[in-house]
Amino acid sequence: MTAEGKEKIKVIHGAGGKAMDELIGNHVLNTFTNKSAGKIGLDNLDDGATIEGYAGRTLVLTTDSHVVSPLFFPGGDIGRLAVSGTVNDLAVMGADPLALTSSIIVEEGLEMNVLDRIFQSMEETCREAGMPIITGDTKVMERGNIDRIAINTAGVGVADEPVPDSGFSPGDKIIVTGTIGDHGMALIQFREGLTFKTKLKSDTAPLNHLLKIARDAGDVTGMKDPTRGGLAAGLNEMADKSHLGLTIHEGKIPIKDPVMGVSDLIGISPYNVANEGKAIIMASPGTAEDVVGALRDNPLGKDAKIIGEVTEERPGKVILETEVGGRRFLDAPLGDPVPRIC
Ligand code: MG
Repeated sequence: MTAEGKEKIKVIHGAGGKAMDELIGNHVLNTFTNKSAGKIGLDNLDDGATIEGYAGRTLVLTTDSHVVSPLFFPGGDIGRLAVSGTVNDLAVMGADPLALTSSIIVEEGLEMNVLDRIFQSMEETCREAGMPIITGDTKVMERGNIDRIAINTAGVGVADEPVPDSGFSPGDKIIVTGTIGDHGMALIQFREGLTFKTKLKSDTAPLNHLLKIARDAGDVTGMKDPTRGGLAAGLNEMADKSHLGLTIHEGKIPIKDPVMGVSDLIGISPYNVANEGKAIIMASPGTAEDVVGALRDNPLGKDAKIIGEVTEERPGKVILETEVGGRRFLDAPLGDPVPRIC
């Protein structure tokens, strides 16, 4: 808060881009004192926190709140999203999820059958991920004080060797596990009532099995799930934290035609919107093809591709090479252009 006390929270502060980074930097890290150069500091700001020494392995802990609107959308719903989002934050840390918690805040008047559908979806997604919800909490707020439902899920997993989002080296390859922008553009298409021949679907899915396959197939040196702020925000975080440059090639980035169609129509880049069933993976140059091959054998990774490489030039920056040979910086967006995306 400013001295005058006039600064107020805006929607963009929760949108996963530069504005949220400022909130975390100026208000969270300034207040909470658990900072360390070691491995359990709040200031590591990775997808999950690590706690060493659990029977020789490392515990990974993460938490995420979900307020997506609408509650049900093509390809998913808030329940599937709440489970997948937390599972994926554990999975990109190189952890196998053990269990989740689920804490819901519900608005008075929500139909019980809507709640049942959300719970059913959470249960199905847990089964898909092979991991249970083991504790939870329910609160109800008076009508009008919250918009229908918010779900917080926390998750714990174990890793033999956690995979940070900045441990890669120059020469390592940058892989995406599939097409980019599906979740964000599907929500935009659905909300705006845009009609195309192809109805877009969100990619919301738990990635723990897929990312274990990737870890087993090669030397994985970095992972991140490009959620809010999309591929652009995810890559910029990785470049910033590693102090290395990341070069990606426009022609190699897999994007569905209808995603490009919505993007062209509304003028929002598919690089800047959320993915909820994709990961960015860095792998050593000698094993990157093996990782991609293994990913492609799985339905969730069938469109996996090497899209670029880690470089020493332009540390902290992401360079996009266009198909005609141009080069430009791919900046992190101020925030995901679509509110309440997850
Ligand atoms: Mg994440």
